[in-house]
Amino acid sequence: MTTPTSGPDRPDAVVVGAGFAGLYALHLLRQRGLSVRLFEAGDDVGGTWYWNRYPGARCDIESIFYSYSFDEDLKREWQWSERYAAQPEILAYLQHVADRFDLRRDITLSTRVESAHFDEASDRWTVTTDAGETVSAQHLVLGVGLLSSTNLPQIPGRDDFAGPTYHTGAWPHEPVDFSGQRVGVIGTGSSGIQLIPLVAEQADQLTVFQRTPNFSLPARNGEPDPRFVKRFHEDFENAREELRNSSYGILLEPPTRSALEVSDEEREATYRARWEEGTLTGILQAYNDHVRNHEANHHAAEFVRARIAEMVDDPQVADDLTPRGYAYGTKRPCLDTDYYATYNRDNVTLVNVRRDPIERITASGIVAGGVRHELDALVFATGYDAMTGPLLGIDIRGRGGVRLADKWAEGPVTYLGISTAGFPNMFMICGPGSPSALSNAVVSIEQHVEWVADLLTHLRESDTEVVEAEAGAEVEWSEHVQAAGRMTLYPETDSWYMGANIPGKPRVFLPYIGGVGHYRQHCARIARDGYPGFALRRPARR
Ligand code: NAP
Repeated sequence: MTTPTSGPDRPDAVVVGAGFAGLYALHLLRQRGLSVRLFEAGDDVGGTWYWNRYPGARCDIESIFYSYSFDEDLKREWQWSERYAAQPEILAYLQHVADRFDLRRDITLSTRVESAHFDEASDRWTVTTDAGETVSAQHLVLGVGLLSSTNLPQIPGRDDFAGPTYHTGAWPHEPVDFSGQRVGVIGTGSSGIQLIPLVAEQADQLTVFQRTPNFSLPARNGEPDPRFVKRFHEDFENAREELRNSSYGILLEPPTRSALEVSDEEREATYRARWEEGTLTGILQAYNDHVRNHEANHHAAEFVRARIAEMVDDPQVADDLTPRGYAYGTKRPCLDTDYYATYNRDNVTLVNVRRDPIERITASGIVAGGVRHELDALVFATGYDAMTGPLLGIDIRGRGGVRLADKWAEGPVTYLGISTAGFPNMFMICGPGSPSALSNAVVSIEQHVEWVADLLTHLRESDTEVVEAEAGAEVEWSEHVQAAGRMTLYPETDSWYMGANIPGKPRVFLPYIGGVGHYRQHCARIARDGYPGFALRRPARR
């Protein structure tokens, strides 16, 4: 009996995850002639935008940029209703993409990939799912997302709470009505900052438990910016090229000057203009040394601190909401609608848990600083085991049965954030060591997917079929990623970029800060030069 070369249980590639990354990977690999199976744990496509249904969930990069650019017609035909689209609209967009490109026929929903083991005898991946299916694939493409492995902190009594509990990243599908309720929210990162104003409007009482205040700028959401819409309609190719070769995957005039070389008046005027713009990085990108130089950073931080003091009526609450002790930008900054003004409402209480630590969760609420806060519902806006969590949540084993979790015990080591030695034909989309979290993820996803598709085409054309990062290349790259990080202020801050939000997680700077355009050119050079740093060989057995 001969082994079939393809079929539903023997695809060329298995793609994991049906978010922005997985959908595009499925589309492009199929276009390149590969047979593909995509597994998605959710009951529909959408990834992050399937799971994050909390009130206020929306993107904070302008939708015209935070959407695919690989297809000009798709870009033209989809009109975003807002500058920063809300979750239902982004989910509808991804559902539209799945239908428009006929992706669903190769997607298996409601099915979680539990393990992926590399079989050295056949040079193929054996992938098993929680539905009991086993598939053998030549390639494994991991589009599992950066922020999809939810973090529920180990607070004493966490499971004793008698009322409903929610995590922003696993929000129920049925509407949640907080009317008449006393609601507690733990966490004031991007998710908490989006959710808190809307819960405050609905709930009887809202108590926010804040450990670290964040820097947040007003979103000034509204109509999509007509300048950008026009550019993409009239000058698609050039706009796309500019986006792809930018520093962060957004169209932005790169700063050329230091915050320290201008007068106080000029700096203040610049910050004020940027404050009015309503962009995530407007102030940070006003000068070129905000995330490299403490003094420069201090100016920008002080500007935002002064705005918080203006917006919040109670001076003690304003003081508690004021971020200090870390450089602005080194924790992921936020964009909000009425966040700070929410604390002027009579039904909102802020608990500074640095001053009044959470002691325990009880059946009826939270005890913090000796005070009992009675609650009917509790929301965890406590974030994610970022970047490595979703990968290590799958039992991945490479050559010699080595577990990825063991290989990365001291932190992730990758070549280009795409590949890791000992795990042939396995590709991470926006893995650790790539710009990913420090960029517009959609632009970075497109770059990775296209680069991987080109590599797989090259393997076919050169009749090699097996590719693996070389150990030396990945060590060199990983050292470069850390060295680039050390040129900035990021490593000084306890953030999820550093793995510091998860107890016991190795402290490693997870994303690459070299910039989207620079990184893209580096990857393109590697492809052009015949993939140095990768070993290419023929398969053990067809
Ligand atoms: P996050 O930024 O990690 O924030 C988690 C919050 O929970 C922090 O305030 C953290 O405090 C707090 N926390 C965690 N454990 C705690 C504990 N034991 N006690 C008290 N407080 C605790 O998570 P996120 O807000 O979900 O955002 C994660 C990332 O997702 C963002 O940075 C962003 O990249 C992305 N995101 C984007 C959007 C968007 O607008 N597009 C929206 C949501 C999320 P500490 O800071 O002290 O750790």
